Amino acid sequence: MATVYYKTDSEIELIRKSCLLVCATLTEVASHLKDGISGTELDQIAEAFIRDHGAAPGFKGYRDFPATLCISKNDEVVHGIPSDYIFKNGDIVSIDCGVYWDEFFGDAAYTFAIGTIDDDTLELLVNTKESLYKGIEQAVAGNRLGDISFAIQDHTEKSKGYGVVRELVGHGIGRNLHEGPEVPNYGSRGRGPLLKEGLVIAIEPMVNLGSKSVKTAKDNWTIITKDGKPSAHYEHTIAVRKDKADILSDHAGIETAIKNNPELIEISLKS
Ligand code: MG
Ligand code: MG
Repeated sequence: MATVYYKTDSEIELIRKSCLLVCATLTEVASHLKDGISGTELDQIAEAFIRDHGAAPGFKGYRDFPATLCISKNDEVVHGIPSDYIFKNGDIVSIDCGVYWDEFFGDAAYTFAIGTIDDDTLELLVNTKESLYKGIEQAVAGNRLGDISFAIQDHTEKSKGYGVVRELVGHGIGRNLHEGPEVPNYGSRGRGPLLKEGLVIAIEPMVNLGSKSVKTAKDNWTIITKDGKPSAHYEHTIAVRKDKADILSDHAGIETAIKNNPELIEISLKS
């Protein structure tokens, strides 16, 4: 199991800086995402944006991943490699981004919807995004890791019958992209490690409209649903604090870009 490192306040500020650059990058990407653009083009935009800020892409080269963004559409869950596929009306697109800046990583993800998508898929996106915040509500000192996991699973799988992916989980983050602890999106209340101030974790529900079963595609990276149904993915990096988690990433800019982009549908929380 990967080592857990608790962070000082100044380290947390450096992680926040990296996370905010991730979110600014996703905002830039959201302003370009539309019917007719390819993942390769979006990846070039993201890499240039990150390097213009004096930072480095966090995923490129990590275990030989070839790109700046993970772009996973429709039945692809996560870890999709940007390609020349042209996005079209009706696609949902999970875009995950990491940066490395001043010795610390940042990580966040958002699933976008292009044009008109069916009601069941829109509901999946809304519910998965809601579950991210349900998990974050539990990320306070004195709770246990299983409280986060339970909240996400309860809101998605138990309430809606969706499939929560088991093979991939959230993670600690800091000087390494992936540190301990693992943060599963399923689990039991009151179980697992005690949460303490200074723990910084990426919480990232990956939720399938159909079954929880996934497999790896032929490219050895892309995770896809076995039943071919769509999958959603939202991610924040947070620091555990006493009364309320500190969300170090920020989806607000991304959501403004969605509002201003007539080709994208807003994913609005209900609860
Ligand atoms: Mg990520
Ligand atoms: Mg992550």
